[in-house]
Amino acid sequence: MVSKSGARDIILSQIKQDFVTPANAIFDYLDIVEKALSKLDVPSDDELDQIKSSCTKLINQYDEAFNLYTNQNSSKSQKSPEEYSELRHNLRTPLNAIIGYGEILIEDFEEDLPESRTRRIIINDLKHIIDLARSTEKAIETFVDFIRGEDVEMEDASSSNIESAEALFKSLGDIEYSISLSDEIKASDILIVDDNKTNCEVLERRLSMSGLKSRTAYDGETALAEVKKKTPDLILLDVILPDINGLELLKRFRSKHTNESLPVIMVSAFDDVDSIAKCIQLGAQDYLPKPINGTVLLAKVVSSLERKLLREREKELVNELHIQATTDQLTGIANRRVIFDTIQNASVREKRKDYKPFMIIIFDIDFFKNVNDTYGHAGGDEILKSFATLLNTEISEPNQVGRIGGEEFLAILYIDEDTAETFIKDLINKIQKNSIEYENQTINITSSGGVAFSNESENASDLVNKADKRLYMAKKSGRNRFVLNNSEISGEK
Ligand code: GH3
Ligand code: MG
Ligand code: MG
Repeated sequence: MVSKSGARDIILSQIKQDFVTPANAIFDYLDIVEKALSKLDVPSDDELDQIKSSCTKLINQYDEAFNLYTNQNSSKSQKSPEEYSELRHNLRTPLNAIIGYGEILIEDFEEDLPESRTRRIIINDLKHIIDLARSTEKAIETFVDFIRGEDVEMEDASSSNIESAEALFKSLGDIEYSISLSDEIKASDILIVDDNKTNCEVLERRLSMSGLKSRTAYDGETALAEVKKKTPDLILLDVILPDINGLELLKRFRSKHTNESLPVIMVSAFDDVDSIAKCIQLGAQDYLPKPINGTVLLAKVVSSLERKLLREREKELVNELHIQATTDQLTGIANRRVIFDTIQNASVREKRKDYKPFMIIIFDIDFFKNVNDTYGHAGGDEILKSFATLLNTEISEPNQVGRIGGEEFLAILYIDEDTAETFIKDLINKIQKNSIEYENQTINITSSGGVAFSNESENASDLVNKADKRLYMAKKSGRNRFVLNNSEISGEK
């Protein structure tokens, strides 16, 4: 059950919203008209300034009256009929100015400006301003009726706004403004979340004027679905939404995305520092107060998008550097540094409880000089790549293989001596059978290998030396064979 004062609060906030939304939209249209005029090289008009200052006056007076009359403890809560009519009159004065100057401007422009698409758009916008002023007038009537204690009937909150927003959207089709953004920034995907269609349309319009694309969601559930569909580069999020509160929504975004991967700028009529602080604490990147100022909006949106792009580039660069530092360029497998580090770490671990015995194999392709001499260096490269791919396929995690020099490779395998023999036999066989097609020729190679087990040495370098010596022995005794501690495994002749 909504308490009596709760119900009153809801009606009051609706009454205020019905006033604030069109009043703010007047500012938005004024800004757009001004920009269109400067496009036509028409200097800013006196009448336009009058409309602007009247609108400021209107909002200030309304705010003041709203606060004064809606405070139930206020001594002003009971007024005489004359005072109500004075209030109505005071609020209407700036409104009449807006309508009056708007009409004058339309007449002036119709007379003075040469016929053009932009002129039609400007005149249309001025008509929207007059329409918005009239809906503000209605909102003022409702407000005064309410504080007088009369029953007020709330109409569908935003239908007139939707109509005017749609008209705005159509009429403003494609005015171009000279804010140049990079194509990368323009390719960004912005999600606008606001239950007020006018606000959405105006934001969308402002962004598209600068070449920025956006999607809209009118409630929290839709916003969540939109984000799930595709994570946007930026969200402009209204604090007050019909279903899920904007702050709650922000929390939900944060449970799946970091501030960096999904920046959120809060948009709200709240202007107190506490709300801003709360949004930021909850992971919002920035804050835009309503009424939206076009320049501030663009500055914040662009800076947020740029930050995200820079961070992504930085990440890519770090990734690339990491890959460069750990990969062998020719073959794409681990490089010398990585594989020696792995052996070093595995050996150090030997002194700990989680130690797992392992073996290493140093491979050296047989007669590789001949391969180069016969097929050229490029042919040799192809063989190195194919050999690396074969080893990398046969030796999978947690085992690892890397290229440590020209045609030399080093592998670390966590297997015991019994399994090792079978594994090596199989590997020799696969190496021999691995035919490489190069320039219509089929090339086959063999490899020799030196094998050492972790329990044979105290440290990594000693272990590698042992394997190296055995490799030398394998070469000396005929190649295409792998030498272990007390045995030798040969490939087929
Ligand atoms: P052995 O059976 O005794 O190992 O004879 P080998 O010819 O394979 O050995 P050696 O070490 O004498 O020659 C290795 C050759 O590998 C020499 C060098 O030109 C070649 N080589 C080193 N790095 C590359 C490379 O990146 N690409 C190509 N195509 N050849 C390379
Ligand atoms: Mg060699
Ligand atoms: Mg060799």
